Amino acid sequence: MVKILDTVSGGAPERPRAEKPRHPEKANRPDTPVKRKPDWIRVRAPSSGEYGETRRIVRENGLNTVCEEAGCPNIGECWTKRHATMMIMGDTCTRACAFCNVRTGLPDALDTAEPARVADAVAKLGLEHVVITSVDRDDLDDGGARHFAETIRAIRAATPATTIEVLTPDFLRKPGALEVVVAARPDVFNHNLETVPGLYLKIRPGARYFHSLRLLQRVKEIDPSMFTKSGIMVGLGERRDEVLQLMDDLRSADVDFLTIGQYLQPSRKHAEVMRYVDPEEFKGYETTAYAKGFLLVSATPLTRSSYHAGEDFAKLRAARLASLGH
Ligand code: SF4
Repeated sequence: MVKILDTVSGGAPERPRAEKPRHPEKANRPDTPVKRKPDWIRVRAPSSGEYGETRRIVRENGLNTVCEEAGCPNIGECWTKRHATMMIMGDTCTRACAFCNVRTGLPDALDTAEPARVADAVAKLGLEHVVITSVDRDDLDDGGARHFAETIRAIRAATPATTIEVLTPDFLRKPGALEVVVAARPDVFNHNLETVPGLYLKIRPGARYFHSLRLLQRVKEIDPSMFTKSGIMVGLGERRDEVLQLMDDLRSADVDFLTIGQYLQPSRKHAEVMRYVDPEEFKGYETTAYAKGFLLVSATPLTRSSYHAGEDFAKLRAARLASLGH
């Protein structure tokens, strides 16, 4: 999921890992060419003291982050600001999306002490806003919904002023799961569509476009006050008209906030970057998305679901108040 998302990669240092191949299902795929990154994608290697401190807190609390697992190019900037996006329910995903760098396979049993450790890390990092995402857990009867809810409750108990954003899997074929997460009242409910429907079979084969869209719509139906958010990657071979249709679909589902970022290829076994979308095109997407009625849009090459999520949450609240005439 995380994925995105923040499911895209590009620059974080590899964590030392032993044993099993990271993506066994991709091992026999033919290699795809890796395109050279344009200048506007390049980022500096992480080095600050604050970065090291964030890393220490994450390690000491035994947590996984999507920042590392997805190899996110923004890790230097985000971790310097102590913004780590926690990835709960283990480091192994039951799906095998073609774009995603998160390890795939059979996950371990859920760690019931994890919600408390996440809450402790949030307190130590002093986060005003936290993004919690997870691997996909098709092996669990509720897809991990109760674990998400436990994590939200643990953070609320430890740091009541922290606002909470969840970036969830699609809970496909897990009836009642979505409702469990919404009932725990996160401030922002994010679920990424990742790409246009025509590319689902190739890029996100285990997911269903209309199911994901409906999930977002359901959140708003259950709790109209909850902010909803979704994101896609571009550069996977989508056409502009398909992206515009996807924007319309998200607006029909009453989604408030859209993120669009450049797909980066984690390895030769992952889906190929078909194109680097230039910053002007991103600007064009942003303008069009605002015209379609999103409260907030972030569309830049390095945009990821959780990039600047805290600042964006403040903007989201302000935009809602402004739209209500306050
Ligand atoms: S953009 Fe998100 S995933 Fe990437 S480093 Fe920042 S918080 Fe982590």
